[in-house]
Amino acid sequence: STPVATFCALSRAATSGLLIKGGDYLEILAKIKYMAFDKTGTITRGEFTLTDFRSLAHDIPLTTLLYWLSSIESKSSHPIAAVLVDYGHGQGVEPKPENVENFQNFPGEGVFGKMDGREIYIGNKKLGQRANCTVDPNIVGDDNTKEALTCGYIYSGGALIGSFSLSDDCRSGAAEAIKELKSMGIRTALLTGDSQSTAMRAQEQVGKGLDAVHAELLPEDKARIIADYKKDGPTAMVGDGVNDAPALATADVGISMGVSGSALATETGHVILMSNDIRKIPKAIKLARKTRRKVI
Ligand code: ADP
Ligand code: MG
Repeated sequence: STPVATFCALSRAATSGLLIKGGDYLEILAKIKYMAFDKTGTITRGEFTLTDFRSLAHDIPLTTLLYWLSSIESKSSHPIAAVLVDYGHGQGVEPKPENVENFQNFPGEGVFGKMDGREIYIGNKKLGQRANCTVDPNIVGDDNTKEALTCGYIYSGGALIGSFSLSDDCRSGAAEAIKELKSMGIRTALLTGDSQSTAMRAQEQVGKGLDAVHAELLPEDKARIIADYKKDGPTAMVGDGVNDAPALATADVGISMGVSGSALATETGHVILMSNDIRKIPKAIKLARKTRRKVI
């Protein structure tokens, strides 16, 4: 395309809320063959609702468990953390992050902290291995798995001491965007650190338009899958920067959510979606294709 056509296209995109960091990315956008989406915060709104919270240890009162949970989570920036802290507030439990020792974040798995002399792990099934818990969380997760909610577990001393479940809706416009991309000949995929059942539910919610679903991934697994797609053609990754920054950086074009996205996302992304409206993505590709044809 001509420099003028590129300049015009970049400003048009910017006006519509899509910041493209240079003409090179516009060129690649025109040729994209694969587009992978992160789930939480990207396909879904990342605004969780707590649907269940319980203690699984008869000697631990619910308020004590909630105090540990909200204190440890108040040190995390994951969207799951915010809803748990809010729930604590609603129950009159004030988090005390200053009482949390040795806080650790395990991307794609959950968090760890020591409180009241207890080592506490909060996260998914995968985190159970780290917590040396041999109990299969499926014993509590059965109903929740059927509803395909995001399940969380609290482990301590090698035991499962609590569980919670959360629901998160798909963004309006997600189904439409994926359908549009498909009609443009682009193959789409969902990448998530969440469970297979929750991933399938998201796939259903977006009208089954996604060509592939990959679940239970760590951030480095997401990056590896992007690297695999790249071998077969130009690949874009759309994410919010929470546990997907390596995948955004690996993609030929990393598209990051601007509003809910982490600071890391806006830094790593080659394209920033200012409004979080993913329908802008197929529009940008159409614009990129049109611009490419404008050759002197
Ligand atoms: P996604 O790939 O869908 O965007 P993430 O990679 O952010 O999801 O997280 C994957 C899973 O790790 C979550 O579904 C959750 O079970 C667990 N997890 C991550 N961070 C936390 C946290 N702070 N508290 C509880 N669970 C967490
Ligand atoms: Mg995410």
